[in-house]
Amino acid sequence: MIRYWLGRARLAGIFTILPIGLVLQIGGCALNVTAHYESTPKTVSVSGYYRRDGTYVHSYYRRPPGAAQHDAPYENAAATKKIGGGFVSLVGGIAVIVILVRFFCDPDWELLPELKYVSHLPEKPKAIEVPDKVARARALWACSRCRQIIQTHETYFYARAGRQEKYCVDCRNRLRDEEAAESPKWIAYAAAVERERAERLKLRLEQYKRFYGSMPDESKAKIISM
Ligand SMILES: [Zn+2]
Repeated sequence: MIRYWLGRARLAGIFTILPIGLVLQIGGCALNVTAHYESTPKTVSVSGYYRRDGTYVHSYYRRPPGAAQHDAPYENAAATKKIGGGFVSLVGGIAVIVILVRFFCDPDWELLPELKYVSHLPEKPKAIEVPDKVARARALWACSRCRQIIQTHETYFYARAGRQEKYCVDCRNRLRDEEAAESPKWIAYAAAVERERAERLKLRLEQYKRFYGSMPDESKAKIISM
């Protein structure tokens, strides 16, 4: 269980992005809040003295003569610091929220990094539609493939109702041969697709185990295999 949550924390960025986000958030906030303390440092020491009314004033430090707390450059610097600090704090805060949402809410599988899997599927075979439906020409038509004339009342072939392509007998036979030649390639292709799917699933499960310490329970495994 600990191993599982450590894995989640690692994947969600709890050890990497979260600390950076926190530093930005707190640092930016401190910058924002302390902006108005921006001023000439108090470097002049004033020793204690008695006022005319007899009250004693303890020694203190004050700004040197001519140092301004409210002049324009000071005001600008403070404003810039305030806005900048606020922005940095906001960015850090957003990063923290994103990481926490990832950590607590994201499904295990989505936290895992992308699988580095190179597909080696053979070239996809040609999909050939054989015009197997027969009809008789109602007018003088031309074959869609070889442009040969199809006489009125002559037999022609088409693939699907509503399709405009009309084929002569020769072209129908040629398309049927081509389709037959492609069919073993389709079988090999389907087998390759299935093999890769199984390989990918195996790698995914291994990856899951590597990060979370144990195999996912069955229902989760089913989700990923779909
Ligand atoms: Zn033809």
